[in-house]
Amino acid sequence: MADILVVKAKLKEACPGFNVAGDLAEALSKKVEVAIGDAVKRAESNQRKTVMSKDIPFAFACCAKHSENLIVKAKIKGAASGANVAGDLAEALNCYAHCLLKNACERAEGNQRKTVMAKDL
Ligand SMILES: [Zn+2]
Repeated sequence: MADILVVKAKLKEACPGFNVAGDLAEALSKKVEVAIGDAVKRAESNQRKTVMSKDIPFAFACCAKHSENLIVKAKIKGAASGANVAGDLAEALNCYAHCLLKNACERAEGNQRKTVMAKDL
């Protein structure tokens, strides 16, 4: 199993009023991993060796302050497969994870479930 890139214990705090299914952390981690992979490709296609926050989806669309950090910062570099990682990347990934969770909570609510699951992501 690949490294989990998100802080499992924080997911519940990020989904107030919801329960968090056991499969959510791994599924969210996979999405973050894919986002990092895409960001590396985007940086490469722009002839940059450094992956930046602007390479992460939604990073510009959100102006919320996220108090909980959902990302395991020490694992980002490994997931970026050797690329340099800008100092603001962790924050952009945190925002991305929060956006995904918010959408997942809305989907669970729309389906009248109190538990957020991997399939809601
Ligand atoms: Zn955000």
